[in-house]
Amino acid sequence: MTATPLPSGGARRAAYAEIARYAGDKAAVPVDLADNTNRWGMPPAAARVVRELGAEALTRYPDAYGGPLKRALGTYLDVPPESIVTGCGSDDVLDCAFRAFAEPGDRVAIAEPTFVMASTFARTNGLAPIAVPLTASYDVDAGAMLAAKPRIAYVCAPNNPTGTVASRAALERVTSDRGVVVLIDEAYAEFAGDSALDLARRDHVLVVRTMSKAFGLAGLRVGYAVGAPALVAEIEKARGPYKVNALAQAAAIAALDEDLAWVLQYVQRAIESRDRLTGALRERGLTVLDSAANFVFVAVAGAPRVAAAMRERGVAVRPFAGLPRISPELDASGGAGLRISAGPWPMMQQVLDALDAALAGTRA
Ligand SMILES: *Cc1c(COP(=O)(O)O)cnc(C)c1O
Repeated sequence: MTATPLPSGGARRAAYAEIARYAGDKAAVPVDLADNTNRWGMPPAAARVVRELGAEALTRYPDAYGGPLKRALGTYLDVPPESIVTGCGSDDVLDCAFRAFAEPGDRVAIAEPTFVMASTFARTNGLAPIAVPLTASYDVDAGAMLAAKPRIAYVCAPNNPTGTVASRAALERVTSDRGVVVLIDEAYAEFAGDSALDLARRDHVLVVRTMSKAFGLAGLRVGYAVGAPALVAEIEKARGPYKVNALAQAAAIAALDEDLAWVLQYVQRAIESRDRLTGALRERGLTVLDSAANFVFVAVAGAPRVAAAMRERGVAVRPFAGLPRISPELDASGGAGLRISAGPWPMMQQVLDALDAALAGTRA
């Protein structure tokens, strides 16, 4: 039987025409500092579970909504398990939250520049993202966010890609309107040593976290959010069952139960490396934003060309171009910059060498 060909263009949703597939899958390089994952490795108890979990466990469906995982997360965060929703990475949790709380066509205010997936997931769910620039000091412009009359507001703190923090006052204000569901993306909270988790006690605020960054489990895809049980239940409806696979649940629970000291030590090392890298970059006269995350943002013109030249030298960092010129630094660089993950110092030295060579080459 021959399949009927799809009418030309008929298989596509109009709303998807402007949406690009995430640009991933680049060839591997020896030193990869492009995605802010843990370059010191994986927590030991999680690694043990990955090695030892029997095949039998994988023939069965996992716990549908991750009950035991929620209990382990609840202990880690000191919140009740009923106020936690898990997902296949925090990407999944954000995606599900967008469709759980807004009708097609509703507005989503997004504090920009930020994590690109926020506006992408808003659009794939039929919502209308509205970019609300951060202030010149990289704080959330809460007044402008609420003036956009959104159904949902997204803020990332510490922010990706700038690494900068949002003030407590701005977060209080953006969460002051009970008609707006606020998603506070805290993917990097462990490095900041500060969190807005207490705001998740309000009945319209979700704090979204991940085990991909501080916990070093990006490949297992475990994310979660904390919020009022009624909010969390709506996300679970939008999410569906079994989203966190059995291996991921088991390894994540082991990391939470047994590896917290390891994670804490890694966080400390990442912070030390980040600060030393910041100093070395500034000594070169480069403009580096103060970071509260496990990466730094270097405002530099022509960042994509610089990153390509670094990649030829075996070092991957993440280039940005066309960011809103909200601050003196981003204005001077024409909205371009490099995001570089903190890793063990030998990797940082390789970054500095590759960057020096790339800058010498692109200036020549
Ligand atoms: C890395 C990152 C995520 C994605 O995390 P996953 O749990 O791996 O999906 C979410 N938000 C921000 C801001 C990130 O940087």
